[in-house]
Amino acid sequence: MSRLTAFDSSTLSASARNAIAFEKLTGHSMSILFDGGLARAYVWSSINAEEMTRDLLRLLPNTDWIASTCAAALCTSPCTDLISADLSGRVRTMGPRNRMLAIEVLIKTSQDQPSAIVLQFGSADPMTRAIAAACAGEMVNDPSSAAVLEAAFSDPNKWVQYYARHFLDARAAPSDLVRLGSSVLALPSEPWQCLRCRTLNTVDRSSCTQCNVVGPDLEASVQKLAKP
Ligand SMILES: [Zn+2]
Repeated sequence: MSRLTAFDSSTLSASARNAIAFEKLTGHSMSILFDGGLARAYVWSSINAEEMTRDLLRLLPNTDWIASTCAAALCTSPCTDLISADLSGRVRTMGPRNRMLAIEVLIKTSQDQPSAIVLQFGSADPMTRAIAAACAGEMVNDPSSAAVLEAAFSDPNKWVQYYARHFLDARAAPSDLVRLGSSVLALPSEPWQCLRCRTLNTVDRSSCTQCNVVGPDLEASVQKLAKP
């Protein structure tokens, strides 16, 4: 899963520098991680998995596509204890975009994903709740994940409401859950944070006041569920 990829020129040049740094750091080409843009699940059997996991964890607080690719690869790593021990402590120091990727990795590498989703959704941090809601959308037939989505549909934060709907597959979800998501039960009230520059924007803003990056389009996500 790679939810958070976006490009601009500064990101691209930073990414090129990071790709070179990755080769120096690990002795591997970045291509070891790719297969048509997706992380290779089978890579773990042919390398030192612990060493690669540590390298990927060091690269996670990075620019967009590298962080997204590292997160996708980490989600398939067999070294789940190492990931949990490393990320649990420092995830709160990351910016919103990387923090979401890290939370996704923690959920996807958990032995009990439904419980991990519930745990993360209990966070006071809206971006943590948003990615927990997105992960719940992939486990809609689990009762605890469905309960998380129900709560997320009327969360005070716009990102949470958006992520709960945008990543929910209406064809796979129970029809009453889809009906619930296709209406807005409670308008979000908290300022939403820009994923790029971290500015807090008032709930009526559709794009960031500082950098113009588009924010959560709640209306579009509601429409998506109403007309799948
Ligand atoms: Zn911004």
